[in-house]
Amino acid sequence: MSGLHTELFNTYLRARSLLEGNPRFYLLKDLMREQWMEPERLDILRLKRLRALVGQALKYSRYYQSKFNGFIDDPKDITDLSRLSQLPLLKRSDIQDNYDGIFCPGRPGVYKDMTGGSTGVPVHFCHDGFYKAYSDACEMFYLTWLGLKRGDRTAILWGAERDFPDLSFRDKINIKYMERIRYLNAFNVTEAILDRFLTDLEKFRPEFIYGYASTLHMAARHILKTGRFTIRPKALKSSAEMLYDYQRRDIQEAFAAPVYNFYGSREVNNLAAECPSLEGLHIFASGRIIEIVDETGRPLPPGQVGLLAITDLTNLSFPFIRYITGDMGTLKTGRCSCGRSYPLLENITGRQYDIVVLNGNNIYGHFFTSLIFKNPDVRQFQVIQNDVNKVTIKVVIPKRTLDTEYIHRRINEQAGANVDVNFEFVDDIPVLSSGKFRFIVNDTVKGIKD
Ligand SMILES: [Zn+2]
Repeated sequence: MSGLHTELFNTYLRARSLLEGNPRFYLLKDLMREQWMEPERLDILRLKRLRALVGQALKYSRYYQSKFNGFIDDPKDITDLSRLSQLPLLKRSDIQDNYDGIFCPGRPGVYKDMTGGSTGVPVHFCHDGFYKAYSDACEMFYLTWLGLKRGDRTAILWGAERDFPDLSFRDKINIKYMERIRYLNAFNVTEAILDRFLTDLEKFRPEFIYGYASTLHMAARHILKTGRFTIRPKALKSSAEMLYDYQRRDIQEAFAAPVYNFYGSREVNNLAAECPSLEGLHIFASGRIIEIVDETGRPLPPGQVGLLAITDLTNLSFPFIRYITGDMGTLKTGRCSCGRSYPLLENITGRQYDIVVLNGNNIYGHFFTSLIFKNPDVRQFQVIQNDVNKVTIKVVIPKRTLDTEYIHRRINEQAGANVDVNFEFVDDIPVLSSGKFRFIVNDTVKGIKD
């Protein structure tokens, strides 16, 4: 049961949306209905949306006109959703090289956005008014899964500097008193800043907390260490990074509330998320298609780790069709016990470049996480590949209980006996300039950082 403030705020938001002609509440209504539809019926809607997207690309985008040449020339040829997997993939470099060619003019409310600016080569793209309204709807929609509503007291622990725009005085008042949001810019946060923020949160009593997995975990560790704070939200949402089991455990213990893994990207947000049944991440299938594919774009069966190829059915100004984000994951068969028809991802296993290549053997991030986090004393670690057969593992572990010999042996088994493994025990491992934490730093790969 939401409080009076939340109800009033939603009434205000509905009225404003109506006046502005913003369809977010209509879209929310559709989402609420579509999540329970039989998958076959939902697929009919998705097919219609996919045809509209491909039709738009063929009509207005010079890039897709030439790229799809020989693959498809009429959207009606998409007779079912699986036909999508015969179309070519869209890579980051394709977007970097073809912004003007991909862009489809004529959509209202177009605005530019970008990703990967600070350390890697940036990717520029754009979104439009419908995409934005859909995103708003999807955010409100996801809150309903957690028994929450927009306007409920919310705390955001975020790491990216650029996500904190210069707000006007009116915006600040709106966010603080109408939307009831408190922000912590978690980039380069000190213990003292964190302490002050948590002190403020204790008074504010957030019903919902979300942020980067590493930032939420940092706050959780501070709470567990000091034992001074009682902050009891209904739920927490972790996004923008992998959420590891040890982080989930600590966060749940510190806040005495469930934490849910949410997956999105700046290019296409609201991709997949856990529901309270915790049986995988539901793909937000009304507006997104996620395929798991190999490097050539061939779909892989459930259970097999592959690249995520994302198709956004809601952004007609800049079509993302089979976009390879660099994230990897696994599909899951069967339906979630919550009854929603949205299909499941087993998990997201990390970034494509979260890979160490030793003697030509690919070793994924989760090999190291399951190996090193087996020791519950480990707070944090980072694997740095220095050379073709050399890695350095930095570990934050207050009690020096790490069985380095065992870890060394396992890496040798996996990657060859000549691999050199060095351990460094440190007090802290800094985050990237984007505020994200990287478990794997492959110094032998250049130019793909985020
Ligand atoms: Zn579910």
